[in-house]
Amino acid sequence: MKIRVLGAGFAGVRAALDLDRLLGRQGVDISIINKDPYHELTTEIYRPAAGRDVRVLAVPLEDIFAGTSVAVVQGTVTDIRLRERQVVLDRQRILKFDRLVVALGSEPEYFSIPGLRENSLTLKSLNSAENIRRHIDAMLSQAAALANPADRQPFATVIIAGAGLTGVELAGELADQRPVLARRHGLVPEEIRIITVEAAPDILPGFDDALIEAATDMLMRKGVSLILGTPLRAVEPGAVVLEDGTRIAARTIIWSGGVRANRLIEKCFTTRNRGRAVVNEYLQSVDDPTVYIIGDAALAINTRTGQPVAPTAQHAVQQGRLAARNIWAELKGRPLRAYRARTIGVLATVGHDVGLAHIGPIKLFGRFPVVVKDLNTWRYILSLGGTRLLLKVLWRNGRLRWARA
Ligand SMILES: Cc1cc2nc3c(=O)[nH]c(=O)nc-3n(C[C@H](O)[C@H](O)[C@H](O)COP(=O)(O)OP(=O)(O)OC[C@H]3O[C@@H](n4cnc5c(N)ncnc54)[C@H](O)[C@@H]3O)c2cc1C
Repeated sequence: MKIRVLGAGFAGVRAALDLDRLLGRQGVDISIINKDPYHELTTEIYRPAAGRDVRVLAVPLEDIFAGTSVAVVQGTVTDIRLRERQVVLDRQRILKFDRLVVALGSEPEYFSIPGLRENSLTLKSLNSAENIRRHIDAMLSQAAALANPADRQPFATVIIAGAGLTGVELAGELADQRPVLARRHGLVPEEIRIITVEAAPDILPGFDDALIEAATDMLMRKGVSLILGTPLRAVEPGAVVLEDGTRIAARTIIWSGGVRANRLIEKCFTTRNRGRAVVNEYLQSVDDPTVYIIGDAALAINTRTGQPVAPTAQHAVQQGRLAARNIWAELKGRPLRAYRARTIGVLATVGHDVGLAHIGPIKLFGRFPVVVKDLNTWRYILSLGGTRLLLKVLWRNGRLRWARA
């Protein structure tokens, strides 16, 4: 029995760990396949994108799976052949499977807005965060080299298009990094403009009103300009054109307006709703019940609302657990369990010092959510490998910092 888990993000890692717990000692061959040798904490990457040093952004897969029966395979999945029960890695290596868990995540959705893909940066991975950081640094350094303030402005302007959680967290973080960036490049902090553009009438569309109000207030206090209820018409090299015809020159344009499932999903499975795979109530693909599809790649339905579950880490982890449990049930001849989405809450920072939390009936704004968010990251690492993993991560990180210093 070969069980392959594709993707070591929030959903895949949880599924593989639970498969090991349930089936690892029973002669089942479990492997997890990922293009990078580490598990990225995507929920943290807006911080390094703004140039902030962060304690932990990724955890090596070898540390997570040390002492388990899960084999870690590094490679890029280039095809999934359902009929042959094969996964193709890097267009050449073939792995057979008996059960498959597909957790390949998402990528940016550009909604066919002219020029958006070609002329914007996105924040989806550690590499993309590093790209954004370097790009902003390069633009500010060019701004500093120009004598005329009008010429400098486009180089010192950052437009973040899309004000969901990612866009808001990034805008807040960048606003707080402004003095550091300005000092580094010999600019005045106020010269660095951060503009958030959102098509919906408010930031954080779909969130609770109190959260929206608090986040709006926090961003405005930090000097972020908000252009709301204004979709993008087009993006040109070095400028965005808004629906009303306004053109804003900016050398840094970051798109955070939406995601779609990994393109490979569309190639291999029945999909709907931005390329997400259609799954049944047990999270099995409608194309093949031996394949479970979870996380951002899946169109899992919240049975209480009848709506697709939002692509978030908390839902990805829950789906990882259920897929592992259902594979175990299948192999043991037990009944499968249906998916019940549970939204634990919202936790976000708006810059270094303030944030928002909405957990159950509790709503918190201010400093406390920042602490809760950091604690939540440590709690998550503990959930992957207990204190053993936490200490290892801290030790490695400490050594890295020491080496860099
Ligand atoms: C900046 C940002 C902030 C966020 N903040 C929050 C938050 O605060 N709370 C929250 O709940 N959610 C947040 N999210 C959303 C959350 O990160 C995703 O919903 C979650 O990562 C989805 O988990 P997943 O396992 O489906 O996909 P991912 O975590 O993206 O994992 C997919 C994995 O598959 C790998 N992969 C992809 N393609 C291939 C391939 N072809 N071959 C091999 N490997 C491949 C990737 O490298 C990755 O390891 C945030 C997202 C971003 C971008």
